[in-house]
Amino acid sequence: MAKYIFITGGVVSSLGKGIAAASIGRLLESRGFKVSIQKMDPYINVDPGTMSPFQHGEVFVTDDGAETDLDLGHYERFTSQVSSRSSNYTAGRIYLQVIEKERRGDFLGGTVQVVPHITNEIKDAIQSNAKGSDIAIVEIGGTVGDIESLPFLEAVRQLQLEVGRANAVFIHLTLIPFIRASHELKTKPTQHSVKELRSIGIQPDILLCRTEYAIPRDMKAKIGLFCNVSEEAVITARDVEHVYEVPLYLAQEGLDYILLKYLGLPLNERRLEKWEEFLETLKHPEDTVTIGVVGKYTQYEDSYKSLREALVHGGAASRLGVRLKWVEAEDIENEGPAGPLADVHGILVPGGFGERGVEGKIRAAAYARQQRIPYFGICLGMQLACIEFARSVAGLPGAHSTEFDAGTPHPVFFKLRDLLGDDTYGGNMRLGRCPCELAEGSLAHRAYGVTQIGERHRHRYEYNRAAYLEPLKRAGLEFTGMSPDGKFVEIVELKDHPWFLGCQFHPEFKSRPLSPHPLFRDFVKASHRNRLEREKGA
Ligand code: GLN
Repeated sequence: MAKYIFITGGVVSSLGKGIAAASIGRLLESRGFKVSIQKMDPYINVDPGTMSPFQHGEVFVTDDGAETDLDLGHYERFTSQVSSRSSNYTAGRIYLQVIEKERRGDFLGGTVQVVPHITNEIKDAIQSNAKGSDIAIVEIGGTVGDIESLPFLEAVRQLQLEVGRANAVFIHLTLIPFIRASHELKTKPTQHSVKELRSIGIQPDILLCRTEYAIPRDMKAKIGLFCNVSEEAVITARDVEHVYEVPLYLAQEGLDYILLKYLGLPLNERRLEKWEEFLETLKHPEDTVTIGVVGKYTQYEDSYKSLREALVHGGAASRLGVRLKWVEAEDIENEGPAGPLADVHGILVPGGFGERGVEGKIRAAAYARQQRIPYFGICLGMQLACIEFARSVAGLPGAHSTEFDAGTPHPVFFKLRDLLGDDTYGGNMRLGRCPCELAEGSLAHRAYGVTQIGERHRHRYEYNRAAYLEPLKRAGLEFTGMSPDGKFVEIVELKDHPWFLGCQFHPEFKSRPLSPHPLFRDFVKASHRNRLEREKGA
């Protein structure tokens, strides 16, 4: 049976519970345990897929096509977990499942209530996801004291009672603010937050205290005393420079040791050498390279979380530091590409929805093609590179995707439904992992080193292969990745260009620090080559 670690949050949101959960996962894996991490989100939306990235950051897509919270991205990057639909539940989904059961008559006319029906559904979701792991980490979203997270907290309180304290521990993440005027760290918010938690029957075993400064020993003793937590279990979680430092920092604080002690698990040796090496490279790169990311939400960096990390991993693979320059697509529309993209060594157009900024992104792709700057187009960025090529090189004026111009004379991209002629995939979005075959000798093949790959998708529009594959091929675009049945165009490349590749899928979701994604790795490398050549020429 799996042992449980429940992580709750107090005082304020955005303390980094996701990173904490992921880091704990890393530490326990580094001691040889099989770990699963799950996120419970208290909001009513059934899945985060339809939520605005402005409000909620990136939608993270799993192999099985679930559109989930971005914290799952941290889990995958920090551990070896491959998340699935059951790694993320919202209150909405729990309620929906219970209501569907009620409609089917499963409750035989009984009164359906939050306790026990909703709480049972939550416990089932947690227990079934924990199967097969030694330790199941469950992050409860929201802040203690919120009305909406109550059913989740009640469910995990019950679960601890059922499995026993030796099999389930509670970690509470809290804030110790530093008051500048009096130069003091303050423990009162933590005391209140723990009091709140205890009032609903949960006694935290470990406190993870976010702070700007180290917490002195006597203050730890005081927090422990007031919160009924042993002093050694009051852990400082100080701000660090790189998120990937967090596991090492928490290890220094003895968190993994305490967890294993409380859970009665053997204290296997901790192996973090590879992780430390990666961090060394991050901190001391041999050179740097600047990548221009042309997007629409560029002021909301959370909406490109995985992308940003994938670039960092890709750079570290060649001991390069990656500097990101977020370029607003509309600035390119207003000023042209040369100004905003003057100082970048590679151009990346990421995924996106909606019309705003589309022409700016098309101009960025044109600029990269003409100026021979490495270009990486992801999903929308791939579609727009094809459209640019159709218009400027293949002689198809007005070419577009029907997403942006329903009456275009050349619909190079159209709806998934138009391609299939039916409603497989629900006719709407292609979601999750799809297989793809790579052409021998292509950039993609050279990057991956194999010809069969599987990558994650999230899009509604598809390349109109029947009408536009041949014309663009004749004009010089290479179709180097296709679905095995030949229906879907997945990767395009440009010959006679240093590095120009567009993919219909989202490779950023599968990049990890210790196994950087090959496309990101090669794109960053090509961009760095561009930098060196440019400097030599100058
Ligand atoms: N809007 C495009 C589509 O739906 C691209 C989506 C994306 O980039 N994820 O196909």
